[in-house]
Amino acid sequence: MSNQNPVFIPGPTNIPDRLRLAMQVQTQDHRAPDFVETFAPVLEDTKKVFGTKEGKIITFPASGTGGWEASVTNTLSPGDSVLVARYGMFSHRWIDLCQRHGLDVRIIECPWGSGAPADKFAEALAADKEHKIKAVLVTHNETATGVRSDIGAVRKAMDASDHPAMLFVDCVSSLASMPFEFDGWGVDIAVSGSQKGFMLATGMAILCVSPKALAAMETAQLPRTFFDFRDMMNANASGGFPYTPPLQLIYGMRESLKMLFEEGLDNVYARHFRLAEGVRKATAAWGLELVAQSPDLYSDTVSAIYVPEGFDSNALTDHAFNAYGVSFGIGLGEMNGKAFRIGHLGSLTDVMVLSGLATIEMAMADLDYPITLGSGVAAAQEYFRSGSATPMQSAA
Ligand SMILES: *Cc1c(COP(=O)(O)O)cnc(C)c1O
Repeated sequence: MSNQNPVFIPGPTNIPDRLRLAMQVQTQDHRAPDFVETFAPVLEDTKKVFGTKEGKIITFPASGTGGWEASVTNTLSPGDSVLVARYGMFSHRWIDLCQRHGLDVRIIECPWGSGAPADKFAEALAADKEHKIKAVLVTHNETATGVRSDIGAVRKAMDASDHPAMLFVDCVSSLASMPFEFDGWGVDIAVSGSQKGFMLATGMAILCVSPKALAAMETAQLPRTFFDFRDMMNANASGGFPYTPPLQLIYGMRESLKMLFEEGLDNVYARHFRLAEGVRKATAAWGLELVAQSPDLYSDTVSAIYVPEGFDSNALTDHAFNAYGVSFGIGLGEMNGKAFRIGHLGSLTDVMVLSGLATIEMAMADLDYPITLGSGVAAAQEYFRSGSATPMQSAA
């Protein structure tokens, strides 16, 4: 087993040495006067990644799930309705969280492999004459199926029905890897985390909150303590934290933002598209199918790939791990046993992706899959060779 091998899970992602070193700092007093100089610029710079001028960045020491909880408890009251489509494990888990908080969750069931149904949202909102629905919840990138949804289309549908509901978006596995336009799409709360596109250790939930959502906070009745926006904003305003901050992650975040801006966000997005496209060329060469139903839904951060009839995707991912020391994503929920996932986000280059494709090919060949060794790798090589690479400048 070698820890030199990258992981091909869609988060947590590979941590570049530069970021591991940045997180390697001795304890500092977060009540000392200089903490504000460290933290305030991080919050300011994070806005650029969300694509916002209006939004407020709020972080908590938590994984992304804590960010979901914060979004709901700060802005809604028991019995409020929310509108959500279920098309994968992550949209499912956000639904579950809302139900456990006593919200009336109006669920639109969609096939796994499809995306957020803007037309069905429009119908449901138009039918809600009394405006009981307070928020529409959308998973931007459904990590279980490798589907990216069109948030701009959801916003258009909401505007067309002239409904005042807020728009909450889970961008945990898309932010800092695929374009995100908080202001342009009229998002009210976006939820992300440190361990995916930001290439850091897990432990910081990162939210962006609109003025409209902050206004909703004034009357929202769901209980919150640890995740209280107001406590966090008040403390942040004077450069502090309402409790002990995850200092090492804040240092990591500062360096991660530097790396992203050095590469250039547009280049970061172009690199993710390129890596994803290489994986898609390989998938086609193997004769396998993506779970995502159509090209407009293809995610640039994760590909979920059906195994052929009669094969078990868990046996494949287990074998890749046991025989070659490489992790791929297992099939989640409905996809368990049916599909495996290749995560291709964060600190990755063309060459690293080729190693993942070569590895999964060996694992498939070992298990007698009907594929030709090297076929997917060659397809990706041809693709990577033909374009102009925008290699990650400082992956080391
Ligand atoms: C990873 C992920 C989350 C957050 O999960 P945590 O394990 O709590 O960090 C939420 N939504 C999506 C789409 C994800 O990919």
